[in-house]
Amino acid sequence: RLADWQQRLRRQFPIIAGNPRPAYLDSAATAQKPAAVLDAVNEFLTGDNANVGRGSYPWATSTTARVDRARDRVRKALGDDDSDSSVEFVSGTSAGLRAVAQDWLAELLADGDEIIVPFGDHQSNLRPWLDLRVALARRGVRIAVKAMPVDAASGDYDHRALPSLLNARTKFVAATHVHHVFGADMNVHRIREAVGPDVPICLDAAQSVGHGPVSVADLDVDFVVFSGHKMMALPGIGAVWARNRRGPRFTRQGWAGTPNTAGIVSMTAAFDWLDAAGLADVRAWNSALSARLTDGLSAFDGVQVLGCQDSLSLDSTVQHRESIVTFRHRRVRSDDLGFVLADEGIMVRADSHCQAGRDSRDHAVRVSVHVYNTPAEIDRLLAVVGRCERMQS
Ligand code: PMP
Repeated sequence: RLADWQQRLRRQFPIIAGNPRPAYLDSAATAQKPAAVLDAVNEFLTGDNANVGRGSYPWATSTTARVDRARDRVRKALGDDDSDSSVEFVSGTSAGLRAVAQDWLAELLADGDEIIVPFGDHQSNLRPWLDLRVALARRGVRIAVKAMPVDAASGDYDHRALPSLLNARTKFVAATHVHHVFGADMNVHRIREAVGPDVPICLDAAQSVGHGPVSVADLDVDFVVFSGHKMMALPGIGAVWARNRRGPRFTRQGWAGTPNTAGIVSMTAAFDWLDAAGLADVRAWNSALSARLTDGLSAFDGVQVLGCQDSLSLDSTVQHRESIVTFRHRRVRSDDLGFVLADEGIMVRADSHCQAGRDSRDHAVRVSVHVYNTPAEIDRLLAVVGRCERMQS
């Protein structure tokens, strides 16, 4: 059943239908776009394109209405049950996290306060908080930034370490929903349990929104930040959803100018497309491909899959592998593997993965899938890894 469903979806991606041979396995970097998204953008730009809130003529009011509808579409996509929430459009996750730091958290913190941030996650979810510390120090406000440790064996946060980081001065926690290297679905409930009901949690959802159902009601977080381009919308658009219950209302200070209206339109279309496809099935498909890949890789003696060995050695809580698998080979360099794979028309990411605290020698191969990928593409990749391994032994 799922195989037929997937073939029907795959055909809806013009870039893939037009290039059936190459295997695009780098969707964690950016996802491909279905025709429905491209058509919606085209329809807007050739139909009723105008600026937002700048006129009373029909195209201006319809563009403004599209943006308002897009805000509601984000709320619906996040299972938002809270009428007091706000949605601000930004250029992407990096800009969104920075906006939370500068436009919201900066006002909240006082001398001696502490925040907890994930040192082993994407740079975009570390730099804004470290920069905020520097900016506040210039104003004479000293805050402590504590590291929430990632357990490299399980790929989840080391939840046992969290209670010892908390105290009455803890004012904020930044976390990631799905890790961009380990593909682990981080246990956000455990973070909420540890910090209690009053501390705001900001979630980097760049790798989860558009990959499966995400519910802010269930997660009980205060910010969800994500990028359009990773959920099949255009690049240059993203959103910050804010609950506005634990702290001041989130609005973008000094915000002026023209928003990325085409990007906003593309985001609505992408959410509609993903909903129609069925996000629970999308998630099931992607994790089945990841499992096929992980199983295949573990048959090679030289391969180490990151963040999923030894998951019982710590108090691991990862319940689900998402659409990302990252591995190294003990005898084959990751960038060499990347070149050989590229030669075979298999597109993966082979570098240090923007992971905070890693240097450029710390390479690994990241394979990331989305619903347009097939088991045959995974098998082709496994065959190439097998060939490289045999050549090295
Ligand atoms: N956070 C995570 C977890 C990511 O995977 C990425 C993208 N690689 C980002 C943040 C940054 O997203 P963007 O480049 O769209 O700002």
